[in-house]
Amino acid sequence: MTEKKTQPEDMMEKIISLAKRRGFVYQGSEIYGGLAGTWDYGPLGVKLKNNITNLWWSMFVDGREDMYGIDAAILMNPEAWVSSGHVGGFSDPLVEDLKTKKRYRADHLLEDIGVDCKGMKIADLDAAIREHKVKSPEGNELGEVRQFNMMFSTHIGATDDAASVTYLRPETAGGMFVNYKNVVDSFHPKLPFGLGQIGKAFRNEIAPRDFIFRVRELEQMEVEYFVRPDDWENQFENWRKEMWKFIEAVGLDKNKVHELEVADADRAHYSKRTIDFEYDYPFGRKELYGLAYRTNFDLTSHQNGSKVNLEYFDEETKEKFLPHVIEPSLGVGRTMLAVLLEAYTEDEMGGEVRSYLKFHPRIAPVKAAVSPLLKNKPELVEKAREVFAMLKSEVPQIMWDDNGNIGKRYRRQDEIGTPFCIVIDFDTLGENPEHKDTVTVRDRDTGEQKRMPISELNAFVKSAIK
Ligand code: ATP
Repeated sequence: MTEKKTQPEDMMEKIISLAKRRGFVYQGSEIYGGLAGTWDYGPLGVKLKNNITNLWWSMFVDGREDMYGIDAAILMNPEAWVSSGHVGGFSDPLVEDLKTKKRYRADHLLEDIGVDCKGMKIADLDAAIREHKVKSPEGNELGEVRQFNMMFSTHIGATDDAASVTYLRPETAGGMFVNYKNVVDSFHPKLPFGLGQIGKAFRNEIAPRDFIFRVRELEQMEVEYFVRPDDWENQFENWRKEMWKFIEAVGLDKNKVHELEVADADRAHYSKRTIDFEYDYPFGRKELYGLAYRTNFDLTSHQNGSKVNLEYFDEETKEKFLPHVIEPSLGVGRTMLAVLLEAYTEDEMGGEVRSYLKFHPRIAPVKAAVSPLLKNKPELVEKAREVFAMLKSEVPQIMWDDNGNIGKRYRRQDEIGTPFCIVIDFDTLGENPEHKDTVTVRDRDTGEQKRMPISELNAFVKSAIK
């Protein structure tokens, strides 16, 4: 059996096509021609996404004593986004095609012709556009590079005047900063402690691209970890290690993930130190996650903006101060894309090329498929249903599959990354007394089958998905 990873050039097409065909990810509003930058998760995509977010929640929130989970509203008082600096400064550098009036990211146009834009300010980008005589993708002259705010605005209530404007949150972090005081008042946590949240965020990306990599409606898994000012370096290092643990646990190849110390000019307005964790996607080495030291920028700004005292009172030292913040921020979609790319494998089995998703069983959307060898034999179906019900009561992500012949079922389950196919045959019923009450368990990666007593199945599947 020879196994090969497909070449980067056609990798994205293969993943996008498999994701659609097998119900992982569909284009948003597809029957209306789609809506750029939006994607819908199908039945298997939801399972895979939940496995990723549940893993994060158990490692970053439930598995720790110092973390508090929250789920804040997406719509917030617009004053919060003024205080956080997003109304004034959450922008991307854009340039306009002078003929069609279409807008493009100046840095993307330059990167497409091999210019490294790291550290470039607006004036530098503008100069580089002129120096390299960059034209729009339609071949037209480009205007001046300008900043463009990426927040989606909307109106609250029945009026649509300026006073009713608010924003769809551009990051989940804001919801945690405005709830910091609530959690302190309810739980009196000792520093360091953190809030964790998983939720949607919205960014009016001018050039959404690369499938679910750059979208306008995204999901983030974020922690705001509050620390004493002199403890930030230590806690930054701790979270850096935690992020590597997650990268490993979710099944990514550590050799494809690289840390990048973000230069001063490229850091977000609130950050004093940022490390980007970049992944080798087929379209280049791009940001997967970010780890930022946000100082006490946010609590200071929200304290000033809300006029509510957000100081932390340390019972032991009797000091009052605004804690500093370490923020590990992880994108769900970017994780899912990396996980899909990592898992996609082609090999030859039984003289045929087979493509399959080699997910870690912990992440696989379906843990095992249960089938009767033949679906027109009631005695096999009855026994298989019994085994299915027994497994499903303990591990919900078990699938019933009696469609087509057994070879086709195996191929279909391989393609969606199901680690085990369990088949109930005549031996199970006692045709061969030695094998009575055993089933065949086929391994996705090797294609090998072994017999296993039904009584051992639950423990076997549970230990594989740990
Ligand atoms: P980029 O430089 O790629 O635009 P960013 O630095 O703006 O990303 P952050 O503000 O640090 O991203 O957001 C934290 C995380 O949220 C990112 O590491 C990424 O995983 C995810 N993320 C951000 N923007 C998007 C997007 N448009 N689509 C999908 N995921 C995103």
